[in-house]
Amino acid sequence: MAFGFAQAFRTFGRLALAGAIGAGLAAGDVGAQQKTPSPGSAKALFAGASLPTQGPAQPIGFYAKGCMTGAVALPTDGPTWQAMRLSRNRRWGNPAMIALLERFSQDAVKYAGWPGILVGDIAQPRGGPMLNGHSSHQIGLDADIWFTPMPARRMTAEEREDLPFISMLQKDKFLTVNPKVWSQSRARLLMLAASYPEVERIFVNPAIKKKMCDTWTGDRTNLGKLRPIYGHDSHFHIRIKCPPGAAGCTPQAPVASGDGCDKSLAYWFTPAPWAPPKPPKPGAKPPKPPREMMVSDLPKACAAVLDAASVASMQAATYGGPSAASALAAAPAAAPADDIDEALPDVGPIPNDKPALQ
Ligand SMILES: [Zn+2]
Repeated sequence: MAFGFAQAFRTFGRLALAGAIGAGLAAGDVGAQQKTPSPGSAKALFAGASLPTQGPAQPIGFYAKGCMTGAVALPTDGPTWQAMRLSRNRRWGNPAMIALLERFSQDAVKYAGWPGILVGDIAQPRGGPMLNGHSSHQIGLDADIWFTPMPARRMTAEEREDLPFISMLQKDKFLTVNPKVWSQSRARLLMLAASYPEVERIFVNPAIKKKMCDTWTGDRTNLGKLRPIYGHDSHFHIRIKCPPGAAGCTPQAPVASGDGCDKSLAYWFTPAPWAPPKPPKPGAKPPKPPREMMVSDLPKACAAVLDAASVASMQAATYGGPSAASALAAAPAAAPADDIDEALPDVGPIPNDKPALQ
């Protein structure tokens, strides 16, 4: 083993930590879980906007501090995808993100042996911080994809609310992928997502990153885009770059070169990321609770985004036009069974040649 995972395992109580990782952080992004936001907070105001603004699509600010104009909705259904948790109204994104998701879903069937994708949260109609669940997803360039394959039938709205998240981790072991649920098709799905030039990062649980480092025998050029982070064991999170011409979008530094199977991954297998916060010194003042984020904390243009006129309807702003919005009746594509998995080669013919989006 290149960098001391085994040693890290031996030197601290892995089983005690397994519970903490499994319980609190299993089913969503980290952060942003706190008491109910007040009515005037940025979270409450952006969550209250039910439709996007009119006009051109612009991400404004940074992935974890911003908003957007001109969002479009991923249709709830397509031949190769189904959107989940529809009641959250988080199917909105920059057209570049929505176009990528549609293309990725088709490529997943074609090249990864995956029956179609279940799409989790993208963003709110005007982006911004959410009442619960994510610290990023604010400018329409982040999307969560379930590790659960799309079923061969159209799920009802209720099923999409209730379908449980399935963790890819083993509950009784520290940061270990469960071989009963992990599969090569999931590995291929991740590497397919990473193959698009506009995809800059894919967030996965550290155990999944390690599994990929240990087992991916195909081209490792894009493996470095897979970034280890808390949670992200029942879904993965695709982040795309600021689209060309998006002047108000704050880019993130590109990932370091290399496959990322190095010290930056080994860190997650040490006690440091999992250590509870240090108790305050006796007699010290209790720390102030963090101040609520207000609209004035976001980029200036976000106040105007909240006030701007809405599009006429959700259908009018659905990607692909109103006909796509009412595609629910169409039958899903025939889905290959998940167990065809091992029959496929590690590296499908993943296309290198992607048309530029936008
Ligand atoms: Zn996410």
